[in-house]
Amino acid sequence: MDEHTLIQKYFSDVGSAFLAEKGVRVSVGDDAAIINNTPEKEFVVSIDTSIAEVHFLSSMDPSDIAYRSVAIALSDLAACGASPSWFTLALTVESIQEEWIKDFCKGLQSVCDEFRIPLVGGDTTKGPLSITVQVMGYCEEGCSITRKGAKAGDGIYVSGLIGSASKGLDDLKKGLEGTDDILTFTRPQARIELGKNLVGIATSAIDISDGLVQDLGHICSQSNLGCEVFLNKVPTKKNIPLTHKSINSGDDYEICFTANGLKEQIIKSVSEELGIPITKIGEMTEKKFIKVIDSEGKDIEVIAGYDHF
Ligand code: ADP
Ligand code: MG
Repeated sequence: MDEHTLIQKYFSDVGSAFLAEKGVRVSVGDDAAIINNTPEKEFVVSIDTSIAEVHFLSSMDPSDIAYRSVAIALSDLAACGASPSWFTLALTVESIQEEWIKDFCKGLQSVCDEFRIPLVGGDTTKGPLSITVQVMGYCEEGCSITRKGAKAGDGIYVSGLIGSASKGLDDLKKGLEGTDDILTFTRPQARIELGKNLVGIATSAIDISDGLVQDLGHICSQSNLGCEVFLNKVPTKKNIPLTHKSINSGDDYEICFTANGLKEQIIKSVSEELGIPITKIGEMTEKKFIKVIDSEGKDIEVIAGYDHF
């Protein structure tokens, strides 16, 4: 099968049910996608590349590989408080294996259906398996949440549970199948609804891809502050040890955000309404250090990656 037939057969129709509602005039098959402008909105755009054996395992179900590649890209829009509208896909494969592509497209379609986003274009090339997804969406003008706005004294909150996805990847590498942790890794939940609800509440936010402490470090450096995190407040599943390493292992795709103490009650109601646990794990500080404090009140030395100060 040649590239053109492949695109026409498998990629020209993914999420096409949502083309009209998302204002797409021209989609897959032309030189470029052509999309109506939306007045009084700001566009929010993000791109992520997932490389086989680096970001996912090529032994994974192709539909999970597709779902995960789009969900982790959507997670960035979630952290901005944006509504996703469209996405593009640059797919590199060693060869065209129709069964694999068919399953891959099933995963694509399910993420499209869940978030009502059409695939509006892409590129298909030959090489080591890699998937690049660009997601685009919007917020009301001036309303997107950034990493910059945290204030000293703001509470630090995190959604969901930390450490499970990384355990899932370890499980996969050991050849295990079907554990809850594996599912967290293969089908991460992009917290789009949560992000939208945090507009006007969160002073800053980031999605956790590289590790809770490391990513919180980006909020600190961009907001020109430090933070104190209490290790025993970090929400984890029972099978995950509460160590600095296990809470900072990445791939969680949960949202870490900061908010003024006055928002505590409204954060609680957002959590209840969406059925997503939200836990306060610490506070932003004037002192520009990242402090992780263990259950005995001792500082844990913060390792891994953070060298901004
Ligand atoms: P060009 O050579 O002009 O870049 P291509 O042959 O790469 O065109 O792509 C033809 C059309 O198919 C374009 O509209 C492009 O956006 C779309 N396309 C190519 N690959 C994919 C893909 N993997 N997923 C979605 N659309 C794709
Ligand atoms: Mg091309």
